[in-house]
Order: sequence, then structure tokens, then C-alpha cells
Amino acid sequence: MVSKIAAGEVVERPASVVKELVENALDAGATQVTVEVRGGGVSLLRVIDNGSGIPSDEVELAFRRHATSKLSEFSDLDAVSSLGFRGEALPSIAAVADVEMLTRSADEVAGTYVSLTSGVLVEKGQRGCPQGTTVTVRRLFQNVPARFKFLKSAATEGSHISNVVTQYSLAFPEVRFTLFIDGRLALQTQGNGELSDVLVKVHGLKVAEEMVVVGDGGSAVRGFVSSPSVARSSRSSLSFFVNRRWVRSPALSRAVEDAYHGLLMTGKHPIAVLNIDLPYQDVDVNVHPTKREVRFRNEGDLFATVQKAVRAALVEQMPVPSVRRQPTAVAPPLHSAAVQRPPARASQEELFEGPAPSRPTSRSVLPILRVLGQLSGLYIIAEGPDGLYLIDQHAAHERVLFERVLAQRASSEVEVQGLLEPMTIELTPRQAEVVKVHLAVLGSYGIALEPFGQQTYLVRAVPAMVRGDAVTGAIREIVDSLAEEGGKVSLEDEIAASIACHSAVKAGDVLSIEEMRNLVRDMESTESPHTCPHGRPTMIRFTSAQVEREFGRVT
Ligand code: ADP
Ligand code: MG
Repeated sequence: MVSKIAAGEVVERPASVVKELVENALDAGATQVTVEVRGGGVSLLRVIDNGSGIPSDEVELAFRRHATSKLSEFSDLDAVSSLGFRGEALPSIAAVADVEMLTRSADEVAGTYVSLTSGVLVEKGQRGCPQGTTVTVRRLFQNVPARFKFLKSAATEGSHISNVVTQYSLAFPEVRFTLFIDGRLALQTQGNGELSDVLVKVHGLKVAEEMVVVGDGGSAVRGFVSSPSVARSSRSSLSFFVNRRWVRSPALSRAVEDAYHGLLMTGKHPIAVLNIDLPYQDVDVNVHPTKREVRFRNEGDLFATVQKAVRAALVEQMPVPSVRRQPTAVAPPLHSAAVQRPPARASQEELFEGPAPSRPTSRSVLPILRVLGQLSGLYIIAEGPDGLYLIDQHAAHERVLFERVLAQRASSEVEVQGLLEPMTIELTPRQAEVVKVHLAVLGSYGIALEPFGQQTYLVRAVPAMVRGDAVTGAIREIVDSLAEEGGKVSLEDEIAASIACHSAVKAGDVLSIEEMRNLVRDMESTESPHTCPHGRPTMIRFTSAQVEREFGRVT
């Protein structure tokens, strides 16, 4: 009984068994790991590896509590480099299931087979097998009704298992992972060492192409993050590994999300796969039974390092105007194909001095800005507490109007302008279908359309803010975005962004000082003043220090 209770800590659900067995396979140096699951892992769980195997005379020991081959001295616990170290997993699993193991180490001719029921050895013998270890777990939790009762459907348990295998395949791109769920091949990676190839398997080609490389060969923080154009509505796509151990860390999640500050729409979250290399002494892995939570010695430093590394990678691939004296190559566009490694540059900080990111939860605020004038009919020049600001008038106005559209709609107070002369708009059959389905949604934004023949619609009213010359353009764009399946942002945001775009002042519009002041004031009250609805920056800053440096005033 004692062993069953303790087991519960490590073995919460079938996915925890898979996690422990996969970690053992990886600790054993396997280059191929195959996981088979049936009935959500309750009827069958099998992990096959081609790792070191266990010598015959140590097999029974492996199932004994606190027997681990991985730490030779107690003091090793301060610097754990293997995934396992407590010698708890195998006995814990054996206590709550029927377990078989077949294993052979390199220098043995025959493999060793053992079978255990309720933690007790019932059979031991020799069998031929390839080098490596196969562990088969059956009837999980059958003897622990309390656990069994809390299991979810086979599909849910299966999805947790698939998550575990996915995470380890991301952490170990050099290992070939194969996952079968009820006989169906659910995941298979190449094991060629390329994380980008694993990303394609996990997130699909489209998303993988929009991932940005973080760090390079020598960096402590390495991996991929999604470009701001790709977003998820939950945090579940943030994966962290510390020394390749899969960890859960709210602090690291916050560091990454902080790096996206102003780049993602509210409620959207990035995808990240990051491994952080730390001296083993700087991370305590022995704080949680399942080893998912770790404690960092210098959490503050780590937070800053991760945040900076991710921000640098994002900035590197954004089309941000350079403020450096040396003209730099134009950054690749946001939607550049292929998972690219950014070219190494001297200092990414220097390239873009965006307004400092603010704290996670608080709304980002803009310093008080004093408008000085307009540049080229494109930018507002303003002075702030720390330097000079160039504000993209169109992007800034878009941001203001975007938030206004969403707010008006949320409070059902959309201002509309009726058209005295209704305009006609012709659509493709596909577009016409889509519009028919979304008439009410469009109406909620103040866009009143009326069928007029098969593929023609009459535009009766549009949002009041839309510029007269932009009405058709706006509606076409909105219809296009409705027709485009699987958009990256929500439909609501997309429609609002289109309306904002076709309502905002244009590049080339000459603005009076008064108009510019109003715009800047409106910016100050937006939620995310630093980016336009598409995630591009609305402003860049030349810090006073930069200006001084350029004038050679600083030594
Ligand atoms: P831990 O991983 O914490 O050492 P486990 O209970 O998971 O404890 O495993 C006990 C021991 O069994 C390990 O230390 C290792 O020596 C051996 N072992 C378990 N699984 C494997 C495997 N797949 N390949 C090689 N050795 C293994
Ligand atoms: Mg282990």
C-alpha cells in the first residue's frame, strides 16, 4: 500500500508513464524511441528504445525503489545532468500496473526478460532481442480505483501522451521518435538533428515557415519562436527545456510573452520552442515529484536573458527602419518563406530601440509626446522624455481606429453612414457564398449589404469612419478575409483591421499640427500603442544617448 501511494506522485496518468519511460530511453542514449499506445494507455503502453540496455544482473535492481544508476554520489544531486535521478519511476509504475521488460546491453548475447505484477517479480528469463530496452505496461491503475476513476476518455489521455512525445521530439531532434496510437501512426520525426524538421512535423509546414530562429550555436537560449503574424489563442504552444529537460515555468512563459510586447493582439499567444542551457548547479530539478517544475538560482537574470534573446530574434526579422548610421540591409519581410537563421549582426539592440517593454500585465503606456512637425507627409516628429520619436501616421491612426472599431462593436454603438446612392459590388461565386453566411456579422460592424442578383450586392451603409474613396476597397478586403479559410487572426480582428486601414490617414496626407496632436493624444489612450493592428511598429525612437553618440558628444 505504501508503494501505491508514493507511486501516485510520479504516475498521475498514462502520459506520466510515457514521460518516465521516454526519459529513461533518452538517458540510455537511444537514437530511436517508439511509443505504442492502446486504449488511452490503459490497455497498453509500450516504449521501445535502442539505448544502452540493462545488464542482466541489474534488471531486478532497476525495479527497486531509489535504485538509480545515474548518480554515483549523493552530492551529485546538486548537479543532475540526466533526466532521471531518483530511481523511482520503474518501481512506481510497476506498483500500479503489469509491467514487462525486455532488455539487452551491448556486451551480452541474450536479452533479459522480466515480468512483474503489482510490483512483484513473477517471471525472469533470457530471450533473444536487439540491443536496447522495451518496457510494456498493461492494465494501468486497475488496482488503484481512485486513480482509475479520474482518468479521462481514451482520446484525452491519448492527446496528453501525444503531447509528451511531441515535447521530447522537439527537445531531441537527433532522436527518431515514432508514436502509434491504437495502431495509427500519430507522429514520426526524422531524427536528423534539425529542429526545423521536427517543427514541420509538429506544427505543419505553414507555421514552421513562419518560425524565427532564436540564438545560434553558442547561445544559452536557442530554438524557435513564431513570427508575430502567427498566433495562438492559448499558451499551450510554449515549450521550454532546461538542459533539454522539459519544464513548466510561468516565469519563462512570461519572459517570452514580454518579448512580444506590442507585437501580438490582446489574447493571442506565440509559439515557442526554447532550450536553455544552464550550469547544472544553477537549476534545482529536485523540487517536484514529476520533475516538471524546476527552480532557478538566478531567475531574474534568466528572465531578462530569455526576453532579450526572443526580442532580438523578432526585431531582427521585422521590417524596422534602421536608426544606425551604417545603412543596414533591409530585414527580410515578415512572411519570408523558409525557416531562416538571421544573419549574425553586431548589435541588435542598436538596430531598434523600441520603447522599453513594460511589465507583463499592466497596459503599455506611452510617454507624453510633444509634436514638432511632419516629415515627408509620412511621419510625425515628436519629442519625448527620452529622445526623439518618429511616428508612422498611417500605422498610428490604424491602431487608434482599430481599437475604436472593436470598442464600438463590443458596446453595440457602431457609427454608420448610410449611402444615398447605394454602391454595387460584384463578387465571385465563392465570395458571394461567404458573404451570404456572414451578412449578420458584417452588419454588426455597420456594413449593410443587400443581395442584388446572384453575385452582386448593394452596399447600403458602411462604418462612419471609412473614407469615401475607400468604401469599395474596404469591403472587398473584408470579403476576401472572410473567404480566406484558417486565417491567422480572428475574424473580428481581421474585419476591424480592414476597416481601420481604409479609414486611417494615408501616407502622403499632409496633417496640421492640431491633427497630429489629436492623433498622438488618441494613441496615448490605446491599449497597444506600439504596433499597428498587423503587428508592425507604429513608432521608432532615437534615444537621447543615441543622438549624442551620433554627434560625438559621448566618449
Ligand atoms: P532513474 O531514471 O531515476 O534512475 P528509473 O526508475 O526510471 O530511475 O530507472 C531505474 C534505473 O533503471 C535507471 O537508473 C537505469 O539504470 C535503468 N533503466 C531504466 N530504463 C532504462 C532504459 N530504457 N535503458 C537503460 N537503462 C534503463
Ligand atoms: Mg527514470
